[in-house]
This record gives sequence, structure tokens and C-alpha cells, in this order.
Amino acid sequence: MKFKKTRLVRECSSCGKTIEKGSLYGQKSKSIPMQQTCWSIDQRPTEEIPNWSWEKVYFKETFDWCEPCGEKKDDERLNFNSEISAGEQR
Ligand SMILES: [Zn+2]
Repeated sequence: MKFKKTRLVRECSSCGKTIEKGSLYGQKSKSIPMQQTCWSIDQRPTEEIPNWSWEKVYFKETFDWCEPCGEKKDDERLNFNSEISAGEQR
């Protein structure tokens, strides 16, 4: 994870701690699937709109991470990768 200095007060999405102005933070984005309809013929309730008029759309949401959480996350991934390669060698 790359870290940047924040110019705003942010909240870490992992531990919930406040990331103060000027401290380092990282960002990760996640795609969240949502159902969206283009139905505009009448004002019927959502549950009566036929299935074919719905489509799945992805909203990209960005999450802030504080430095300790971001580093921990990176470490976990490294450990996991080294475990796999150690297993392959056997
Ligand atoms: Zn955190």
C-alpha cells in the first residue's frame, strides 16, 4: 500500500481511528454491486418492475486506511505469499 499525507481529517475503515491532518494514510477501492433500473413508464412500486429492466452496476467506493493498518495488511499478504511458495518447494 502506498501512503500519502492527508490534508483532511479522515477515518480509518479498518480500526475506526481518526487519521489526523498531516499523517500518512493509504487508500483501497472496492466495487460494490447495486441494482439499477431505467424503468420510467409509470410510477409503479419497485417490486413490480420486471426483472429484465434491472441491471447490475458497480459503484467504486474508496476506503481510507491509517498507516499501521495499511502496513499490517501488507505484511499479512507477504506472509501469505511466502507460505505458498514454501509449500510449493516441498
Ligand atoms: Zn487503522
